[in-house]
Amino acid sequence: MADECLFCRIAKKEIPADIVLEDDEILAFRDVNPQAPTHVLVIPKRHIASTVDLTTEDDALVGKVVRTGVEIAKSEGHGEKGFRLVLNAGPDAGYSVFHVHLHVLGGRELKWPPG
Ligand code: AMP
Repeated sequence: MADECLFCRIAKKEIPADIVLEDDEILAFRDVNPQAPTHVLVIPKRHIASTVDLTTEDDALVGKVVRTGVEIAKSEGHGEKGFRLVLNAGPDAGYSVFHVHLHVLGGRELKWPPG
């Protein structure tokens, strides 16, 4: 845990969030600035600053984050029409909170390529 990390603080319940799902390893909560009718972030509770810091030891955890994102998209009703899972990294992608998070977006037509 990084004391000053926003998402670590959400994971520790020091900062409120609209929590969708939680277990001992991961937390899912609604994005405060939603870009689609469904916009949920799935994070590992353990602090990992960026996807570029992932190691093979994180493979199972990342798989769980992705599978959870899919389950949330399906449970929010987007299994048939579709949804998008996004992992940003670095300034060109606008990465702004330095704790790995998977965006789950659904509920509207999502353009490709993304902006
Ligand atoms: P990224 O650009 O991939 O780093 O995305 C960071 C996301 O975190 C953005 O979509 C923000 O709207 C979201 N965000 C920032 N602060 C909060 C917060 N306190 N609660 C929920 N989502 C947040």
